[in-house]
Amino acid sequence: MVSTVSYQGRICRGCWDQMRMPVPIRGPLALPFRAVGITQSKMNPNICTICERSFRYVKKERHISATASILFADIRGFTQLSERLSPALLSDILSVFHGDCAKSIWAHDGIVNKQMGDGLMAIFNFPIKNERHAAAAISAALDIQRRCAAALKELTLRHGEVLAEGLGVGIGVHTGQVEIGEFSTLRSDFTAIGGTVNLTARLESQAAPGELLVSAEAAAAAPDIVTGATRMLNLKGIENPVLAHVLGRVQ
Ligand SMILES: [Zn+2]
Repeated sequence: MVSTVSYQGRICRGCWDQMRMPVPIRGPLALPFRAVGITQSKMNPNICTICERSFRYVKKERHISATASILFADIRGFTQLSERLSPALLSDILSVFHGDCAKSIWAHDGIVNKQMGDGLMAIFNFPIKNERHAAAAISAALDIQRRCAAALKELTLRHGEVLAEGLGVGIGVHTGQVEIGEFSTLRSDFTAIGGTVNLTARLESQAAPGELLVSAEAAAAAPDIVTGATRMLNLKGIENPVLAHVLGRVQ
């Protein structure tokens, strides 16, 4: 059996987990790969651009079904703020948010699959495999809340603006079956779609600033780290009320 230890940090973890193929992304062995355009992915520096862009080629299918945990995060109150804050401060807030989210997600082997202005979507368990993907997604979300709360305090001090009021990150985490593949004719990178992804986005839209809403399915997969209050939510487009565990901010 090939040991992964000797490769650690030097090969693409996505290609290794999905195909047992060692693709060098760091060190001298990575140079010829870099010369043909295979480099570290912006979704996660431990995966490569093959994983990101050659889904059909790698998987030999247009899309696959997989179990994954999905995380949606966005900055609550950003739209209202954008009317009264300077463009420089708004751009500072966005870059701190995206930077802190990426660090937290990568630390738990997730990928930042999409960035949408003041929000993002992350996938856990693809292409880097992780049996404890629900726990990883929840831990990443808690990290995001901690880092962003600290960053918000720091920005408030530096700019002398009252940012704390109504501003904070809202996050939703859910676990289930997703379809992963290349669904756009304009873009060649993969994403995840399906009911699990939609429900995660709906959960996130109900999270107050500083809050993390975890679905019952994700909570059941990570009982050791999910404690605390629950809330019944009526989500747009979803027939029955959905139970969510409320983590993050202590109200
Ligand atoms: Zn790869």
